[in-house]
Amino acid sequence: MPDAVVTGAGGFIGGHLVRALLAQGATVRAVDIKPLPAWFQLGGDAENLVGDISDRVTCTRVAEGAADVYHLAADMGGMGFIEGNKAACMLSVLPTTQMLLAARDQGARRFFYSSSACVYAADKQSDPEVRPLKENDVYPAMPEDGYGWEKLFVERMCRHFLEDFGLQTRVARYHNIYGTDGTWSGGREKAPAAICRKVAEAVVSGRHEISIWGDGEQTRSFTYITDCVEGTLRITSDDYADPVNLGSSELVTINELVSIVENIAGVQLKRSYDLDAPQGVRGRNSDNTLIRERYGWEPTTPLVEGLTTTYRWVHEQVAMELAKT
Ligand code: NAD
Repeated sequence: MPDAVVTGAGGFIGGHLVRALLAQGATVRAVDIKPLPAWFQLGGDAENLVGDISDRVTCTRVAEGAADVYHLAADMGGMGFIEGNKAACMLSVLPTTQMLLAARDQGARRFFYSSSACVYAADKQSDPEVRPLKENDVYPAMPEDGYGWEKLFVERMCRHFLEDFGLQTRVARYHNIYGTDGTWSGGREKAPAAICRKVAEAVVSGRHEISIWGDGEQTRSFTYITDCVEGTLRITSDDYADPVNLGSSELVTINELVSIVENIAGVQLKRSYDLDAPQGVRGRNSDNTLIRERYGWEPTTPLVEGLTTTYRWVHEQVAMELAKT
């Protein structure tokens, strides 16, 4: 019987989480809808299952005997994906509902849910000089249309599964997670991976240009994957059940993000700005008071450090793709 179940294990964060759990000596059951060769990472010592957790029978099999359930599976991507696929994003409520019910019925010890900073009210994120968002800034509710509404609805489900059924739910609001072994092309990639790819393509092709979505002055904080995994494990094993921000508080503009990657790559690119491209909110940062007070910890990996590792990995992927043509 596994110590932990990870859904969405073939994806970016799920793959890293499985690896960390295995490194701690946990027994892990990992599940994803994608065929095994498409998983970003394959935990060799995990029980790796391919299955669709929209299906209740599959969920029962997946949750059977598990102590902790880490639910990361979702149909999602960066801003380019979520702004154009609102219904698809909202449909993640189906696998999540099935997984919550299966965890309850199988007597799971804890259920972790990966929520998002996209739950925060849009009117509090209209300025690049944004005040960092505290957990209670989510209400009155005006989240990101589609994806954010689904995340907020599931946060409420987690709360009521705890109150009404006694399932020990835990919720983290992830703020822009980045790192190796995740989506870096194809339309679902997020800003750090997309920018690393564009810079790597410019380096490899010798065409020293880059197209940036929006005017580049929108601000965000970006959280390195190792911090995300550590925070996820801390939040799951603690008693605190309300949603917690899990994000870096190092705020940068997208232009600054591009400059950091250019420095890592040792190039300077001619910038053009696509003002019609999806941009999301104007500014967003994480207020880490709660996570610091509660866990004595917060994400601290400097952006330049995390991006150095990420850029090298993306550059390798770009070079390998090119070698195939
Ligand atoms: P990802 O797309 O890399 O991984 C999600 C995985 O879920 C995919 O491999 C997908 O195949 C799988 N999946 C989807 N539907 C499934 C189903 N019905 N049955 C089984 N597997 C299914 O995404 P990620 O970046 O690793 O994100 C993981 C979680 O964290 C998601 O819930 C996401 O919304 C949340 N989150 C991520 C970020 C971020 O910056 N990456 C930010 C906020 C929240």
